[in-house]
Amino acid sequence: KAQLFDKSSTDNKVTFRDVAGLDGAKQEVEEIVAFLRNPSRYTELGGKIPKGALLVGPPGTGKTLLAKAVAGEADVPFFSMSGSDFVEMFVGVGASRVRDLFRQAKEKSPCIIFIDEIDAIGRARGRNPNMGANDERENTLNQLLTEMDGFGTNSGVIILGATNRADILDKALLRAGRFDRQIHVELPDLHERIDIFRVHLRPVKIDSSLDIDFLARQTPGFSGADIANVCNEAALIAARKGKRTVEKQDFIDAVDRIVGGLERKTKLTT
Ligand code: ATP
Repeated sequence: KAQLFDKSSTDNKVTFRDVAGLDGAKQEVEEIVAFLRNPSRYTELGGKIPKGALLVGPPGTGKTLLAKAVAGEADVPFFSMSGSDFVEMFVGVGASRVRDLFRQAKEKSPCIIFIDEIDAIGRARGRNPNMGANDERENTLNQLLTEMDGFGTNSGVIILGATNRADILDKALLRAGRFDRQIHVELPDLHERIDIFRVHLRPVKIDSSLDIDFLARQTPGFSGADIANVCNEAALIAARKGKRTVEKQDFIDAVDRIVGGLERKTKLTT
């Protein structure tokens, strides 16, 4: 049975320190963190906090990580589900899961609800004539819209959605009072890649001569997830060779392996 909600426990809390680069995005979610830490300070003054924001960007750029970090920084529960869990679901199940999720979240507010791959539910309606499954997706989407409208800004529940296709989303989702804010999360530039390497090399025993700048220059177009992968792969390669530290060559081999994997992936999808 698919795990629908996972509430992050405090012991593996993600914070902004784990999120490298993405300065603009972090700044934008800072306000949400401040609100979740102390909702009454905002509501007492009559302020309206957005109910939701949409994190938009390519796969592996840290959207899920950032959402978890918002919960971690604010020290509030994190409820999550993925739009893809709702594909090919029996009639009525999607809507009832959405209802359950919101009910649980309201009980634990202030908190975050994170909906990954929201485009799987929120694709514009009425485009796909493939009835059955499509109808059920629409039911799920309608339930989501109903839930978002049904609670006030003072409820302390903030909904973060993630997608790499904001352009195909149903306009109803983007309307004021729903996901009316978009936060862009892009592929990292050279400096951001250096920072991401720093984060993922923290637990790795690297050779003292290793040049992180060099690694970042070897990895244009890599996402944060790809870089995390490189660091792990390099450690595995070094371990397999019985080394005591991870050396430059291990990273070069890891990059080669991952570029190979990425090329296969693009071939499959094109
Ligand atoms: P998807 O669209 O595929 O769901 P995503 O944008 O949600 O991807 P994450 O799941 O957050 O990406 O990223 C996967 C992993 O990649 C993270 O758990 C983390 O290890 C690493 N990562 C991605 N971006 C960053 C970043 N900016 N800083 C540090 N690590 C990162």
